[in-house]
Amino acid sequence: MFDANRITHFSEKETPFYYYDLDLLKRTLDAAKRASTKFGFHVHYALKANFNDRVLGFIREAGFGADCVSGNEVKKAVEVGFNPDQIVFAGVGKSDKEISHALSCNIFAFNVESIQELRIIDELAGAAGKKGQVALRINPNVDAQTHHYITTGLDENKFGIAHWELGEAIEVLRQCQHIELIGIHFHIGSQITDLNVFKSLCVKVNELNNWFDDRGFRLRVLNVGGGLGVDYHHPDTAPIPDFQSYFAVFAEFLERKPGQDVHFELGRALVSQSGSLVSRVLYVKNGIKKDFLILDAGMTELMRPALYQAYHKIENLTAAYSNSTVQVHYDVVGPICESSDCFGKEVLLPQSKRGDLIAIRTAGAYGEVMASRYNLRDEIRYVYSDELIR
Ligand SMILES: *Cc1c(COP(=O)(O)O)cnc(C)c1O
Repeated sequence: MFDANRITHFSEKETPFYYYDLDLLKRTLDAAKRASTKFGFHVHYALKANFNDRVLGFIREAGFGADCVSGNEVKKAVEVGFNPDQIVFAGVGKSDKEISHALSCNIFAFNVESIQELRIIDELAGAAGKKGQVALRINPNVDAQTHHYITTGLDENKFGIAHWELGEAIEVLRQCQHIELIGIHFHIGSQITDLNVFKSLCVKVNELNNWFDDRGFRLRVLNVGGGLGVDYHHPDTAPIPDFQSYFAVFAEFLERKPGQDVHFELGRALVSQSGSLVSRVLYVKNGIKKDFLILDAGMTELMRPALYQAYHKIENLTAAYSNSTVQVHYDVVGPICESSDCFGKEVLLPQSKRGDLIAIRTAGAYGEVMASRYNLRDEIRYVYSDELIR
């Protein structure tokens, strides 16, 4: 929520910048921690959603582990103080260098995405005199009912090991001396808002859990990934996702065997609502067919609309505190030389003018981390809520 006080502070800052509401972040993390602890679940934060230093600091302090998808994310997680014993490493294309580095850090587990990768980790672990703990990432063919670019658990996706390869995978595991299978892993997609999707996932996990058990593998870890969605349309109505209902689905539908732990990898749900991209109107262009608001932020600062046609709520912060009653439909666009550089079409806003402050909401996940220097743009700037208190 943006009060008048905050907006006054914003008006002194150079735009565009990411604004992080650390109080909301902390309350979100507390809620997730409380709900997961109640069921004895382990949560690893997916660093790729946001690896801003202070954001990561709060997440580490809250006691979460880390879910990494590159060697540099593993390095970063260790550097900022995540316990290596709580770090997992996924990704379809881990390089030899990344694997060796992660082995040297003694991370908790590799989420392995192919049979060939199993052999490579075994080889590199052997050479380093280590034993690597692995979980098999299995593609469960569950439809996440989300945008096709962020669906990862269908047979046509590149992620994970297909169920028809599992027989071969356990043969390979039996031969490998330097890796130990500790569990199975799933991640079916992102921005999932229908909890029934997670029930379907639980059914698949139970089947596979039994399948491994029947073959003599006693799994310690059921890692069900992340993907819990947030409300992009109403960032202020319920800014903290309903973690309780989410975890309750797994508590009810997963059939844990004795000694099995359930692990999660949440990204978006933990950080989205605490971030906004704050920008200024540079120009108002009135056309015959369209009125345009041209902002000083573009797809170089927030790529989700250009990449996935994602919706973000757009607010005119300056107009919110004036008495303007005239509403206009604007196409809200950035300055980048691409037609896809558009934050929203036909967005109903109070009549806006050059210099007005604009907030693009729910930008804490997959926002700052995707920023690019395309068009030789400035490095991304950010402002934290506690810097505004004087
Ligand atoms: C991206 C990713 C996550 C986090 O997904 P969210 O939708 O942000 O919760 C979890 N696990 C893996 C393997 C991922 O690639």
